[in-house]
Amino acid sequence: MATIVTGEGGNAVKGVIFNIQTFSTEDGPGLRTTAFFKGCPLRCAWCHNPEGLSPKPQLIWHAARCIGCGECLLSCPNSALTRRPEGVVIDRRKCRACGTCAGVCPAAALEVVGRVISADWLAAELARDVEFYRSSGGGVTFSGGECLAQPEFYLATAGLLRAAGIHVALDTSGFAPSPVFDRAVEACDLVLFDLKLIDPDRHRRATGVDNRLILENARRLAASGRPFWVRFPVIPGYTDDDENVRAVSEFISREMPGAERVDFLAYNNLCESDYQRLDMPYPLAGRGLLSRADMDRVLAVAREAGLDPVPGGALAVDASGGGRPPSAADDRKLNGGTLQ
Ligand code: SF4
Ligand code: SF4
Repeated sequence: MATIVTGEGGNAVKGVIFNIQTFSTEDGPGLRTTAFFKGCPLRCAWCHNPEGLSPKPQLIWHAARCIGCGECLLSCPNSALTRRPEGVVIDRRKCRACGTCAGVCPAAALEVVGRVISADWLAAELARDVEFYRSSGGGVTFSGGECLAQPEFYLATAGLLRAAGIHVALDTSGFAPSPVFDRAVEACDLVLFDLKLIDPDRHRRATGVDNRLILENARRLAASGRPFWVRFPVIPGYTDDDENVRAVSEFISREMPGAERVDFLAYNNLCESDYQRLDMPYPLAGRGLLSRADMDRVLAVAREAGLDPVPGGALAVDASGGGRPPSAADDRKLNGGTLQ
């Protein structure tokens, strides 16, 4: 069993996470537990973790579980809930995500996504599966949202885990001030770095932010000596055209030649119901999955540019039998509240 030494009074740094996913095989080597931090400065049109966008806990309502008893409406101290023909409606201007309504709901139809926790608590929780990490060559991955939007929380938790001999990976968009980024790289064993678009205007339109900082941090990572993987999301209509695939591939070949691995991750639309539960429009509504032929074209362009990409993600099932089901990982969803 790993020992997490937190010192007198423990580590008081706190942060917000929305999920802990155990037995993950896609967030780094071996068997891993992935902690998802809440809050992200990017707004990628294809984001598959919309719960990770806001830095605050949020209330969601599960229509399929609701039995229409109305208990929740009476319990809310802020009168944030109403019942309409379509079901329970949350007034998000009034809701404080206090969880009172979720506490009285007899059907578990209301849930606060996101929880304020301490670095101590998180490190101890993540260390629970240390025997699996050791036997499989795995460890812990920090993902999001964007971990570097909560840098002190990430640094404190990663430090505790590494002091206990646990391998730590950081999954990041690279969008953070370079001094913060450098410290974050130093604090882990492996970086999973996302690269999406090279053209700055297209990057801004698709993600809401400029990519200058991201490309600068990509170069800093390459020069750091820290092991890293690059991950490229292959999104139909956004990143999958030949011009961008070539530009991303050439950037990696030229500027990040030390990448241990380059994953080309096909778009999936499994998150659409998560957007609905958060009352957010899904920007890619109705968009189909990538076809096998499109993925083959993308991989061929990357190979021409000198990469050896590893394909992953979901493909539309076609005559050639393409397609891969998403991994069935065990999620410990984190309901609202504060753990010290
Ligand atoms: S989480 Fe709290 S504030 Fe929000 S609707 Fe429920 S009881 Fe009201
Ligand atoms: S308390 Fe739960 S089951 Fe009852 S109306 Fe509210 S959400 Fe539905």
